[in-house]
Amino acid sequence: MIPGLENAEFIRYGVMHRNTFINSTKLLDKTLRLKNKDNIYFAGQITGGEGYVTAIATGMYAAMNIANRLENKKEFILEDISEIGAIVNYITEEKKKFQPMGANFGIIKSLDENIRDKKEKYRKLSERAIEYLKKSIKGV
Ligand SMILES: Cc1cc2nc3c(=O)[nH]c(=O)nc-3n(C[C@H](O)[C@H](O)[C@H](O)COP(=O)(O)OP(=O)(O)OC[C@H]3O[C@@H](n4cnc5c(N)ncnc54)[C@H](O)[C@@H]3O)c2cc1C
Repeated sequence: MIPGLENAEFIRYGVMHRNTFINSTKLLDKTLRLKNKDNIYFAGQITGGEGYVTAIATGMYAAMNIANRLENKKEFILEDISEIGAIVNYITEEKKKFQPMGANFGIIKSLDENIRDKKEKYRKLSERAIEYLKKSIKGV
């Protein structure tokens, strides 16, 4: 069906979205560092985080922690108020059955108020996350 590939020979079919991931919930701490080998950090889909943005975010998160560690600064840990904090929390918190997860509003800490309108709820969650990130990143 694909122009130019009329005569292609298929040796083996690929598999869509097959993820190979470690059991981060047991192996990694909140800085994405291997618990039993503290000079190894993980990021990206191998941690069980899914999607482009999660891969970039966890890469940055691990890199910031490596840099802080090398400069004897304190660990950089975000709470589940922001999406980055929520995904790191999801992949590093112990759970019985661990499956990869992409960024989504469902893993972010609930608001104090109950808002039924989804659009409004997501807007408030986003605003709270931006405020939280601004404060957290200050001085890092
Ligand atoms: C078909 C498909 C469609 C997708 N569509 C989307 C989408 O629309 N939106 C979205 O957000 N996400 C999508 N994803 C998911 C997204 O691609 C991944 O979550 C993201 O690319 C993961 O980035 P990563 O850097 O962690 O891993 P990768 O991008 O897989 O990078 C890992 C790299 O490590 C290299 N490597 C592996 N083993 C070794 C080794 N031993 N030595 C040296 N190098 C090695 C690999 O060659 C590769 O370059 C899709 C994935 C697939 C498969």
